[in-house]
Amino acid sequence: MDYRQIPAIFVADAPGLDFLNSVATLVDEPVDSIVDGEGLLRWLSQAGMVPPGALAGIRERSTPEQLDAIAAQARGLREWFRGYVKARKGRALAASDLRDLAPLNQLLARDVQHREIVAGGPGDAGVFLLRATRRWESAESLLMPIAEALAKLVCEEDFTHVKACEGPKCTLLFADHTRGHARRWCSMAICGNRAKVAAHRARLKQKKVS
Ligand SMILES: [Zn+2]
Repeated sequence: MDYRQIPAIFVADAPGLDFLNSVATLVDEPVDSIVDGEGLLRWLSQAGMVPPGALAGIRERSTPEQLDAIAAQARGLREWFRGYVKARKGRALAASDLRDLAPLNQLLARDVQHREIVAGGPGDAGVFLLRATRRWESAESLLMPIAEALAKLVCEEDFTHVKACEGPKCTLLFADHTRGHARRWCSMAICGNRAKVAAHRARLKQKKVS
């Protein structure tokens, strides 16, 4: 299905998992938001991971083929990381899980970051803030905020509460930040309601039988 017909889904409560959900099967057909370079630019914009000016600059300086090649790299990264998460969700990460993160560390090593003094907002302690920023030079730099989100996921998220939606055909992952950790669905609007309807039908059927 054409991803342009459907806005990307951001229900994971963790940007690293939202990236995995950029390809999603909700009912039957998978929809990939990062099917090409334009899709990658659009997804990064919707995710708020790259400033609009930087996206426009990279689009201007890159050929469609270059952007498509980066999108292919992003998809490769996504499917590799999906395997990593799926093998470990539901339990706390251990020191031995670091070894398999080598490809992510290699990608992080390619990042070009520097720090910059910017004006602080009303809630900030000082007038100025020291903020990390990135030189958005090549199309490759589009992978860096993604790598950062994946790194933050493994460093900051408790994998005990990383879950897959219980929708029978749904592929979405999320971090359960609810009190009591009772979240079961990607969203009530998508799979939660469907489950309620199915349970209701099953009860009606049982009544008829008994
Ligand atoms: Zn779902």
